[in-house]
Amino acid sequence: MKILVTGGAGYIGSIVVEQLIKAGENVVVFDNLYQGHRAAVHPAAAFVQGDLADRAAIDGVMEQHQPEAIMHFASHTLVGESMEQPFLYLGENVINGLNLLQSAIKHKVRRFILSSTANLFDDPERMPIDEAERIVPGSPYGESKFILERLLYWLDRVHGLRYAALRYFNAAGASAERGEDHNPELHLIPIVLQVALGQREKIKIFGDDYSTPDGTCVRDYIHVLDLAQAHILALRALDQSSRLYNLGNGQGFSVKEVIDTAREITGHPIPAEMVARRPGDPAVLIAGSDKIRRELGWQPQHPNLRDIIESAWRWHKSHPHGYEA
Ligand code: UDP
Repeated sequence: MKILVTGGAGYIGSIVVEQLIKAGENVVVFDNLYQGHRAAVHPAAAFVQGDLADRAAIDGVMEQHQPEAIMHFASHTLVGESMEQPFLYLGENVINGLNLLQSAIKHKVRRFILSSTANLFDDPERMPIDEAERIVPGSPYGESKFILERLLYWLDRVHGLRYAALRYFNAAGASAERGEDHNPELHLIPIVLQVALGQREKIKIFGDDYSTPDGTCVRDYIHVLDLAQAHILALRALDQSSRLYNLGNGQGFSVKEVIDTAREITGHPIPAEMVARRPGDPAVLIAGSDKIRRELGWQPQHPNLRDIIESAWRWHKSHPHGYEA
């Protein structure tokens, strides 16, 4: 199948592209390289540098490549940034997604996969969080993804666009060749590994007064290769119906547990300093992913935190300066 992947030069997008190509699919990447890296794009994928704000550029890719499916990763993705610059999210994320969707409908694309987020669930009543949980976006970032989910719902009803919205919890880890390289880096695991590489002095722990066993936030870390597998399964299931899935391992680890595991793996003391809470961080986020297991037979291959961090560590050691090395 010919698949257009927006954001295919970014962390998750580039690894999904790699796995799609391994599965024999035909991929076109559309990315503005604002956060992504040209070197992250699998050499077997066609690459078009362009911006989703440019409707003519999107139409050009659709006309030239005629994709049968779209996977939409390109997005601003930072909760904290969205609380400071809401229009990047409620403006750009939404308008760019709308441009892509309008072009998809015009060019009769029938399948669409959206990267969505656990930030839809700011105040969950149950933990783990399953798909029946009421949606309360935690930030303009989460709201922007929710708006795109609702657009998809209506485009399915009106135009028969089949879609899957995959709500990731904490994507982490690396494949053999591709990993996490953000600038600036703000995510826990890569920062901890940068300390182990001697590139930073310490990790700052954002709060130890949460109501969790050790006081630090608990998150559900999911290996990026397992996420990629979920995309491939969801794509194949779209012929039957549209779908919403929460994606995680169903198990939570605290910030301290992540740091301790990284200390064991790297053999580095990884100094940590306790600082104030980061605004917008809920205490606990754990996914209930029974639905995707049951309906699509999704089975994570790397559910252990240790395996996830080890894969990231291998990638960071071999790419100490990310893709610029
Ligand atoms: N965190 C931290 N120090 C950091 C970065 C993150 O203590 O330098 C914590 C953060 O407060 C959260 C967890 O680590 O509880 C995971 O954060 P990350 O930014 O990796 O992912 P998020 O949960 O925001 O998607």
